[in-house]
This record gives sequence, structure tokens and C-alpha cells, in this order.
Amino acid sequence: MTSLKAAAAAILAMTASYLWQPATAVRAAELTAEQIEEGQRFVVNNAIFILFHEAGHMLVSEFNLPVLGREEDAVDALSSVLLLGAEDEELNTTIQDAADGWFLLDEAKEDGPQEDDFMGTHGLDRQRAFAIVCMMTGANAEFFKVFADSLDFPQERRDECAFEYEKARDSWMSLLAANKKEGAKTKFTVTYEPAGNEDLQGFADLLKSASALETIATVFGTGYDLKDGIKITGKTCGTENAFWYAEDREITYCYEMAAFHAALITNWFENQAEEEAGADDEMATDDTATDDAAADETAADDAAAYETGEEQSEPTAVKLKKKE
Ligand SMILES: [Zn+2]
Repeated sequence: MTSLKAAAAAILAMTASYLWQPATAVRAAELTAEQIEEGQRFVVNNAIFILFHEAGHMLVSEFNLPVLGREEDAVDALSSVLLLGAEDEELNTTIQDAADGWFLLDEAKEDGPQEDDFMGTHGLDRQRAFAIVCMMTGANAEFFKVFADSLDFPQERRDECAFEYEKARDSWMSLLAANKKEGAKTKFTVTYEPAGNEDLQGFADLLKSASALETIATVFGTGYDLKDGIKITGKTCGTENAFWYAEDREITYCYEMAAFHAALITNWFENQAEEEAGADDEMATDDTATDDAAADETAADDAAAYETGEEQSEPTAVKLKKKE
């Protein structure tokens, strides 16, 4: 990555500006180089999952595909099936980060899901997370065993997921088969619009250096009977979201979404550090009933949820399951 340092600095700056207390900005700056790298990967991987999701909407709309059940669930499944079907170690990490992204989003909502969420077009964040986990274990129970174990994902459910994954994969593949064309190439127009502000520009640069939008153009630009000219655009939208605009034939990924995921993962790193510090205290003094970690755990941002357009809420501590 060319601008690794700039992107890292931007993540920190952005995260800091997202947090309430000035003290947190200082702590954000204390992330290790390893955490920054992991954070960047997390942001990019979540962007890729979301872009695959939007590309799913694109296929449904461009090919006029029938959708039985909720389209949002269906395109989440497609995103999972395509990422898992590649049987690529890097993409397996991508999907793991995507599941974590939804878990973090869920845990960041202090008051839990609201009436709006139940009425919305999407599954609840935590359901979306577990639906991805289901696809993961369904596709490769052995590879994702550690991850599923860390979530106490029951064996009985894993058995069902093997069938659910197969069903989702075969259903999508048979639908898409009719819309595939040997050797077809589709030209997409990929644009990273200037973010218009320094903080978000860091995320634009990060996504660009990781070729996040180009990944979609490559995957869906080969073998599908799509007409040229579909746009894939990164831009500042004023909301943390991503869209498929059927009329404009355009996938839009909002830089705010990347900033939001950066804030989520940074918050998690901080909480983890506090937990570890808390554990050390306990060992040293043996009576750490006072929990000043809880006071610090308000480190948060305006966590509007992806594609729900819901009111801002103040997330609480996020506890991500440890990977491996
Ligand atoms: Zn959607």
C-alpha cells in the first residue's frame, strides 16, 4: 500500500473526531502499528463485503432476478457464497471481518434493536452476523471451527448450516448461470471521488490503495452478461451507507461507512486494552470491584446503522470475539 502511513494517520484522526471525549483521542493515538494494520484490514474487508452485497442488488436488478424472501437477506447470502466459494485464505479473512463488523455494530447499540429495526428491510445486525457465520461453517466447518467455537455456535446449528450454505450457493448459481456468458467482459467505471475533507480523504486513499472498488469491477466484470457502463463510486454522502441505484446503474460506497468501521474497531481495541488492564489490576490488588473501565467505555461515535437510516445512538463497549 502506497499511502499506508497517511491512511493510518487518517484512521486515527477520523476516529478521534468521532469520539466524544478529548481524552479518547489520546488513547486512539496509542494504537500499535499492528492494530492500525489490523484496523485497516478490517475497514477494507467490511467495505468489500458491503460492496459484494450491493453488487448482489445490482445483479437482481440488472437481470431482473426473482427473489423469494427478503432481498437483503438474499444478497447477504450471495456476498457470503461468492467470498467463500473463492476458497481463498484472504477472502476467508474478509468474511470473518464482515461477521465481526455486524457483531460490533450490534454491540455498539446500547439500547439494543429498536422498533424501527424490527420493521426495517434488513435482518437485525446480530442476525446478519450469525447468518454469515452460518454460511462460513456451512462452507468449511473445519477452517472456521475456531471462529465458530469462539462464538459458542452450536454443533446442531452447524449441521443445518451445511445444508443452508449448499442451498444458498446452488440457488444463486442456478439463477446466475442463465445470465452468464462465456468470455464476457463488462466495463465498469470506477471512481474515487475526492472526499472533500481531510479525514474522510484518508479512507478514500485507503480503499483506493486496497483497490476495493476495482475488486467488484473485476469479479462482476468477467463472465456476466451485463451491459457496460455500470458505475462504482466511492464518495462522501453525508451518511454511513452504501447503495445500488438501479436507474443510474451505480453502486455507491460512502466513505463515512469506512470511518464508521474504523471507529468500531478502534473502540474494540481500546476496550480490549481496558479489559486486559482490568485483569492485571485484579491480579495485583485482588479487589477491583470499582469498575472505572465502565466509565471509559462510553468512547463512542454517532453510530447510525448501515442501511437503516436510524437515529444516532451512543454505542457502549464492544466486545469482539477473538479471532483464532
Ligand atoms: Zn442492501
